[in-house]
Amino acid sequence: MREKRKGEKQRKKENNTEKIFFEMDDNTRKIKFIFDLDGTVTSEETLPLIAKQFKVEQEIEKLTQETVQGNIPFVESFIRRVFILGKLPVNEVADLLETTKLYPKLVDFIQKHAGNCAIATGNLECWSHKLLKKIGCESYCSDAVVENNHVVKLTKILRKEQVVEQYQKEGYTVVFIGDGNNDLEAMRVADIAIAVGMTHNPSKSILPITNYLIFSEEALCRQLNQLL
Ligand SMILES: [Mg+2]
Repeated sequence: MREKRKGEKQRKKENNTEKIFFEMDDNTRKIKFIFDLDGTVTSEETLPLIAKQFKVEQEIEKLTQETVQGNIPFVESFIRRVFILGKLPVNEVADLLETTKLYPKLVDFIQKHAGNCAIATGNLECWSHKLLKKIGCESYCSDAVVENNHVVKLTKILRKEQVVEQYQKEGYTVVFIGDGNNDLEAMRVADIAIAVGMTHNPSKSILPITNYLIFSEEALCRQLNQLL
């Protein structure tokens, strides 16, 4: 029997129905770029921004540093963060986050290739939806119940690796781009992991599983275009 060639149509008997499938080669693969939000697509961290505006800076700064360094597990950090920030008016937080500074060339890439891009952020949807709409690709967030304009209950903490796995099951080659300890699992599961050190140095924990380490927006856009 001759070897099957890449890109060749194959026929396969399955459950008594004959399926035609196409074995994808490098030119026909489906690729999905999944981006962390904070410090990866935004050029400033959103949490300190909220903290400054609502004067809970010290509590949040301490928590952010510990989390970025990997000293506090992400889930614990997240719950503590929501406890501190949940009291703030949700609409005001969303309006503030809409003004977060972004990497313009990267956002341009995302908008040009929106079908190939997604954002995975641990931040709550009710805080981030305006900012995410501005970026303009599909997104995955954590969820909470909001009552009287305040967060009253966490209902989902996003596990970014599950977003990666979902796309892989759909046949995508997944590239994950992140900078923090909370991106570690997603980057480990992804087919290609890109660590960025554009806003701050990438968390040390992600370096061993990183395929590319990138320190500028231009270099990142160049790399993404090469992977397309
Ligand atoms: Mg980040």
